[in-house]
Amino acid sequence: MDRIYLDHMASTPLDPAVLDEMLPWLAPDRAGNPHSAGHRAGWLAGEAVERARGEVAALIGARPGEILFTSGATEANGLALLGAVPEGWAVVASAVEHPSVLACVVELARRGHPIRLLPVDSAGRVDPGALEGGEPALVSVMAANNEVGTIQPIGELARGCHGAGGLFHTDAVQLLATGRIDVGAQDIDLLSLSGHKLHGPMGIGALFVRQGVALRPLLFGGGQQGGRRPGTLPTALCVGLGAACRIARERREADAARLAGLRERLFGALAAGLPGLRRNSPAGDGGLPGCLHVTIPGADAADLLLDLPDLALSTGSACSSGEGGPSHVLLAMGRSAEEAFGSIRVGLGRFTTEDEVDRVAARLMEVFGAAFGGPPGGAQPRGS
Ligand code: PMP
Repeated sequence: MDRIYLDHMASTPLDPAVLDEMLPWLAPDRAGNPHSAGHRAGWLAGEAVERARGEVAALIGARPGEILFTSGATEANGLALLGAVPEGWAVVASAVEHPSVLACVVELARRGHPIRLLPVDSAGRVDPGALEGGEPALVSVMAANNEVGTIQPIGELARGCHGAGGLFHTDAVQLLATGRIDVGAQDIDLLSLSGHKLHGPMGIGALFVRQGVALRPLLFGGGQQGGRRPGTLPTALCVGLGAACRIARERREADAARLAGLRERLFGALAAGLPGLRRNSPAGDGGLPGCLHVTIPGADAADLLLDLPDLALSTGSACSSGEGGPSHVLLAMGRSAEEAFGSIRVGLGRFTTEDEVDRVAARLMEVFGAAFGGPPGGAQPRGS
């Protein structure tokens, strides 16, 4: 079988149009530090970086001066949580956050901040009223989950957070390729995003910091980006992130509609061929259009996927795949460890075709169906 890439939640392929815009900035004749003020090479690079900052801002309804480039969303999340939390404040996060948020929460607990984790329901959703009447806190709730794709009610949560006098951060990494966020209308103070989750390059991301929100830097150096995130900016990567944001703004609705159709086509095929299949990712508008997460009861998904090395799928999050334990997201949703180990995540993206979806469905039914002892298409789940 030729290779099929359906792991877009882990990373999206670079859009060729993004690569085209980046390439000139990697050529030797474009050498120049974007922070060099004394010559044309520096000015040109600096202008390209600032245009890109404008594109990032436009994607989320922010002002360019409210965008800090970072090395990715791990850094953006760290800068938001460790850099924006006021002395002594409580820190609140959902139980299904990405490890780059949860590890900061652990660090903030170690530094003496009171901590509260918000539970989720069986669909992975935080109660929209969870923050009403609480204490002033730095709250971090992701816009969409990276394992099951559940979209969180961040507008309502931000309102509740502000009603209590708090600050609201959202990790919007997974939502922005296909979903719309407006930091003004949704009253968001801090937002993280990442290039390689919206068909841009790896190694670049951004943190939106609402004007007026105080931020302590994590790094110290040459004073770039107002000293809030110093370090020489990588011109080609910034340009690539800007292009990816512009293209996402142009395509997000059309991409979302097409991907939701492919997602349902895949689910329909798998559900017909694998009785007992359980869907963990929400259908309809409650979940990311490109994400299908299912449990095949009794299966050892990681083991079975080893039989499909040319098929890029995942059993959960790439970021915790080295750790071997059951997914903290599925456990928080009330699933058992056994169910978590029997789960696969399919991430569809901008360039996924109907033919690829059909071929993947057929291969999955072959491998998972055989593991359950039945013919392809007629499998009975083991132990249920
Ligand atoms: N948050 C979420 C929800 C993610 O999915 C990821 C990437 N897996 C990150 C943060 C980290 O992003 P980056 O790879 O840019 O550090």
